Amino acid sequence: MENARDLLIRKPAPAYGRLKDGEWEQALAYAEDYKRFLDAGKTERDCVAEAAFQAEKHGLSAHIRHGKALILVRSGRKPLSAGLRIVAAHIDAPRIDLKPYPLYEKDGFALLKTHYYGGIKKYHWLAAPLELHGIVYLRDGRAVKVAPDENEPVLFISDVLPHLGADQAKKKLSEAFPGENLNVTVGSVPDPEEGGDRVKLAVLSILHRRYGMTEHDFQSAELCLVPAGNARDAGLDGSMIGAYGHDDRSCAYAAMRALLDTSKPEYTGVCIMADKEEIGSEGITGMQSAYFDTVLEGLCAAEGTQLRTCYQNSFCFSGDVTNAFDPNFPDVSDPLNNARLGHGPCVMKATGRGGKSGSSDASAETLLKTRQILDGAGVSWQMGELGKVDQGGGGTVAKFLAMRNIEVVDVGVPVLNMHAAMEVAAKIDCWQTYKAFLALYNDR
Ligand code: MN
Ligand code: MN
Repeated sequence: MENARDLLIRKPAPAYGRLKDGEWEQALAYAEDYKRFLDAGKTERDCVAEAAFQAEKHGLSAHIRHGKALILVRSGRKPLSAGLRIVAAHIDAPRIDLKPYPLYEKDGFALLKTHYYGGIKKYHWLAAPLELHGIVYLRDGRAVKVAPDENEPVLFISDVLPHLGADQAKKKLSEAFPGENLNVTVGSVPDPEEGGDRVKLAVLSILHRRYGMTEHDFQSAELCLVPAGNARDAGLDGSMIGAYGHDDRSCAYAAMRALLDTSKPEYTGVCIMADKEEIGSEGITGMQSAYFDTVLEGLCAAEGTQLRTCYQNSFCFSGDVTNAFDPNFPDVSDPLNNARLGHGPCVMKATGRGGKSGSSDASAETLLKTRQILDGAGVSWQMGELGKVDQGGGGTVAKFLAMRNIEVVDVGVPVLNMHAAMEVAAKIDCWQTYKAFLALYNDR
């Protein structure tokens, strides 16, 4: 056989070598748009608002639940009984939530008690600039949005100096930073008025002036701390993006953009931005919620189609990030089966942990269709697993689509520093993921 090597051996290579004329410029322009989305979307509420705004500009109206979960639908030529082409991604990200009664004064400081949300390495959040984001409902029902601009003061969680860190240094990482100690410093000037809690009072005065709120209004608020600052190019070559929230806004944005850029598809296209993935897809805005079924059932009913029939004929990419192989920490991965940064989106047959437990484990039939869709559109893509066997693991929303009898596989951006305050993704991977989702929406 001539050239058996070329014919038989798979040659993994970065996506850069396969770019056609003008595609790198497209990828860079896409990255600029994506960075703006990240800067506008520091919380799931901000992402929903921004996505609804952009959808509106493209003539699509968004279905929204509690401002935290969103569905976009682009009608296709075929009836809904032929099924949907769905990309489901999540827009919540690990962060530090405030407790119901957060504010207190101690040792001359006003501080906020917190309860972290999702899987974080707690030390990432100490001695780092943070911003308070969210929503407060006042007693009269008025909603006040809390979203500081970049000129406002940052907040922070203090850490012990290395000079006095001898005891801390002896502890295990899992014990050195107790969650209960992640208290955020928010003030140090006492109110002039005589009496107790003068620093706390001064902080409440600021909140009242700014948002019209009192301490009671924390009872109907959703406030959280997220890393301060905007998305930045990363690397001397600027090939990557360093930002908070690539998990999973890189996929959510790609899904939205792909659907907005699709016109007159064969199958009805659906973009799902789900909340609460980082805590198990629970709640009425998480992927387990019947909300998503209620919206799609409404569409099916209008056409006289059973939702279950529609689901059975649907095909879904669960758009979620995975870990990129890290040269600093090679030991956690199988180098042959871990996604590589710059090699395009990673298709994951299975996620889960300890023998694929908790994963929907896509079938060969689903993988064949995925392969045909991606290759057919010239997407650079790869396959992989999240780290080596028995090292740990993770899940995505895929299994909650599979539960609905929707054929589904994970397809997402490889990310370095996943769940850190600054995650890193390659621009080319973000763009190739967009192309992958575009290919699904244009499936024939
Ligand atoms: Mn994720
Ligand atoms: Mn995650």
